[in-house]
Amino acid sequence: MKGKIIFVLALIMTAGFIHCHQAHATLNIVTTIGQISNVTKEIGGERVDVVGLMGPGVDPHLYKATESDVRKLAKADLIFYNGLFLEAKMGDILERMNTSKRTVPVGEYVDQSVLLDSVNYVGHHDPHIWFDVTLWQQVAKRIEDVLIEEDPEGKEYYQQRAVDYQEKLKELHQYVSNRAAELPDDQRILVTAHDAFRYFGQRYNFNVVGLQGISTESQAGTKDVMDLAKFIATKKIKAIFVETSVPERNIKAVQDAVRAQGWDVKIGGELFSDAMGDEGSVEGTYIGMVKHNINTIVNALK
Ligand SMILES: [Zn+2]
Repeated sequence: MKGKIIFVLALIMTAGFIHCHQAHATLNIVTTIGQISNVTKEIGGERVDVVGLMGPGVDPHLYKATESDVRKLAKADLIFYNGLFLEAKMGDILERMNTSKRTVPVGEYVDQSVLLDSVNYVGHHDPHIWFDVTLWQQVAKRIEDVLIEEDPEGKEYYQQRAVDYQEKLKELHQYVSNRAAELPDDQRILVTAHDAFRYFGQRYNFNVVGLQGISTESQAGTKDVMDLAKFIATKKIKAIFVETSVPERNIKAVQDAVRAQGWDVKIGGELFSDAMGDEGSVEGTYIGMVKHNINTIVNALK
């Protein structure tokens, strides 16, 4: 009998403990792109509940908030998004949310001096900052700061996790630099379906050529395809790349046009540009997607 009572007491205590434990998730956060969701989870750990709106394969330039998204945004304590006009069609809803809660465009706090001008939108910057790992480190720092401001009790917890994660990002930057260095300068030409990789090019010394310009909104015309095909054939570029969030037909059209010029360029593989891989896969994390990209690029161009 006594054993039973102790057992029941233990159960109650365990339930209480689990309850307390869950109560520690003090911040309910909604994010847009997977890259931001992932960093927020890495630094926020068990103290945050993160709901990402844009899953694998989703194009953030074209994404419009659904009704269920609006409900999630309305319930959130805090919203993290990239800004720099990446989430172009969500501007209104994000602005509206800003009147009732803190909304943070994390990309707008990085060192402005290295930001590139947008090709498509006059007066805006290129939003694809996650391809320069050192810029994404600044974003991670911003996320850490905001988490501490919004949940000061978790300060030490966030700081410790941020130190660990920043260390991994530092290693990642070194990894990308080392792999890029395997290619001679004249082979460092990256041709993709849209101009997502200009920060990658700037940081790791690649000449980046995109078909569609910086946003996926403008469709590539026949002349763009012909010009790019001539460029690829003249430079005898070995491989061009498709992106998971952009229709493959665009880059296939380029491949055909290059063949017509008498040069056979292969499709070097699929890159994660604006969206990450599936949840639970290696490429479903920021670090995993960056490694996948540099390995795919260097292996195909070598
Ligand atoms: Zn993009």
